[in-house]
Amino acid sequence: MKPAPEPLALVQSFVNTRNVMHGYDLLEDLDGATVWLSEHGFLGDGARPNEDDRRRLIAFREGLRALLLAHNGEPGGEAGAEALNEVASLAPLSARFDPGGEPSLVPAAGAGGTIGGVMGSVLAAVVLGAAEGKWRRLKACRNEDCLWVFYDGSKNRSGSWCTMDVCGARAKMRTYRRRRSS
Ligand SMILES: [Zn+2]
Repeated sequence: MKPAPEPLALVQSFVNTRNVMHGYDLLEDLDGATVWLSEHGFLGDGARPNEDDRRRLIAFREGLRALLLAHNGEPGGEAGAEALNEVASLAPLSARFDPGGEPSLVPAAGAGGTIGGVMGSVLAAVVLGAAEGKWRRLKACRNEDCLWVFYDGSKNRSGSWCTMDVCGARAKMRTYRRRRSS
C-alpha cells in the first residue's frame, strides 16, 4: 500500500516493522530483531544484536515515526529530531565518490557496532530522499490507532491517511459523530 520509491523504501519498511493496527512488532524481541536485520542484509556472519542494540533501534524507529507524523501536520517533530540526532552521532556517515564522480553517503566503517549498518543506511536514505524532494512525502498515518508509514504521491502533498477506505473513512465518521452530538 502506497509504497515509497527508492531510496525511501528502506525507511518505510524499517518504521513499519511495528504494526499498530494489527498489534505486532517485528523488533519486539531479540530473535525477531535478528531475523529482520539478517533478512535485510544488515548482520555480518554470526553477528547478533544485544538488548541495548534492540532498544536503540526502537528509539530510532519511534523518533522517525514522530518526524513522519510531523510531515502529516501532527506535533512531536522536536522529540523526533532529538532521537534522530542521537542516532546520527552514533552512526556517522561518510561521503564516497564513484569513478564517474557521483557522490553518495555510506555508513562510516565500524561505527555504531552491530546495528551501525542499519542505522547508517536508514539515515543515508533519509538524506538522499530529502535531496531528491521525496522525504516530506513520507508520512505516518494520522489515525492514532494506525500510524502506518505511507508515501504521499498526491499532487499537492495533501494525503493524511494510509488508506482512504479504512483510516480516512474512520476519521470522517468521527468528525460526523462529533458534529451531530454537539
Ligand atoms: Zn492508517
